[in-house]
Amino acid sequence: MISEKETTSSENLMALENQYGAHNYHPLPVVLARGEGVYVWDVEGNRYYDFLSAYSAVNQGHCHPKIIGALKDQAETLTLTSRAFYNSTLGQYEQYVTEYFGFDKVLPMNTGAEGVETAIKIARKWGYEKKGVAENQGVIVVFDQNFHGRTTTIISFSNDDEARKNYGPYTEGFIRVPYNDLAALKEVFTNHPDIVGVLTEPIQGEAGVVVPNASFIPGIAALCKENNALFIADEIQTGIARTGSLLAVCGNCNCSGNCERGKTYTRPDLLILGKALSGGTYPVSAVLADDEIMDVITPGSHGSTYGGNPLANSVAMAALDVVNDERLAQNARKLGEIFRERMNVLIGKSALVTLVRGRGLLNAIIINDSPESSTAWDICVKLKENGLLAKPTHGNIIRFAPPLVMSEEELHDCCDIIEKTILEFA
Ligand SMILES: *Cc1c(COP(=O)(O)O)cnc(C)c1O
Repeated sequence: MISEKETTSSENLMALENQYGAHNYHPLPVVLARGEGVYVWDVEGNRYYDFLSAYSAVNQGHCHPKIIGALKDQAETLTLTSRAFYNSTLGQYEQYVTEYFGFDKVLPMNTGAEGVETAIKIARKWGYEKKGVAENQGVIVVFDQNFHGRTTTIISFSNDDEARKNYGPYTEGFIRVPYNDLAALKEVFTNHPDIVGVLTEPIQGEAGVVVPNASFIPGIAALCKENNALFIADEIQTGIARTGSLLAVCGNCNCSGNCERGKTYTRPDLLILGKALSGGTYPVSAVLADDEIMDVITPGSHGSTYGGNPLANSVAMAALDVVNDERLAQNARKLGEIFRERMNVLIGKSALVTLVRGRGLLNAIIINDSPESSTAWDICVKLKENGLLAKPTHGNIIRFAPPLVMSEEELHDCCDIIEKTILEFA
């Protein structure tokens, strides 16, 4: 018999994961058992502000009643049919999500990496069948420090050694150029007539919330148009209100879904979504495109057993409803400005933080120590002790991305915790 202590103490639960699970993550030492809105609780009942939001999957807040309601209702009705048959929620969801984001068609998948793989396949097929590139010659341009997921093909074009090493041989057909460098992209286009697409994150999340110049994303789209290539936006982390607009490619458009796209909107040819598409309940991803691109996909040429399943469809519609109903994009925009203001005040008081950057509620601070140092990790452990959960990325960068349902008062409370913690270190 397993005693209650063994199943309920953080220490024992961490030991279980350590013994029986593959060691593909290095988690902060906290074991979470419950979540509601902007809060999570550990098994001992301590409450924390969640400042990671499962890498921006929980934009709508933990266990949002409307999303959980849709999940429960659909779970009791029909969960999976496979695409061998039609199902009663898929068409509705497809209409909903395409109208919401302004595209003709959607291809539903499950995880983010599958969404990226799907976009790569569509771009290549489009290249051969529409652009007229010779078979197997298609090239997709990607950027240094990119993060698009963990499949064999995706890590093939990563330059993160940890993600790549000893997983070869690697998939061909990708060229990597510096991020935020339109001249480099232009040169690649000059030298390679067989480019079928350019794949980018509008803001590089995993790289440490790297925000490019305002001209970069529109510049990519323009170069793609000039050279008859597809502009592929991976908005898995930046999309769905996280950066203060429905999508990061919306730029400074201050709407929240179902919008008339503003002047700052750069329309991708292929839009990849995941994470918050389900509000953190269930893996749901999607690729959106217009008919002349999506019609290269024919029966049997791509698919997934769970893609477009009834449960996913219902959950995604509820999750996107919440983004609109609660004006999460506007809230992210407003709170983001306050957050960066508060962090800039802190930078004035402490030499330990050198920079805050980000957009909306996707932000990061840079810790004044080498990426090899444990300072950022130690700060995160201390933040945890003070009631706030965040995780370092690339050694000396700490990403701050709370659920977008946060109130202004709560955000100030969080900034107080961060400030107190950092000042304790200095
Ligand atoms: C998280 C993420 C992915 C991968 O999504 P998974 O669901 O983990 O496969 C791809 N691209 C970006 C930008 C991401 O943040």
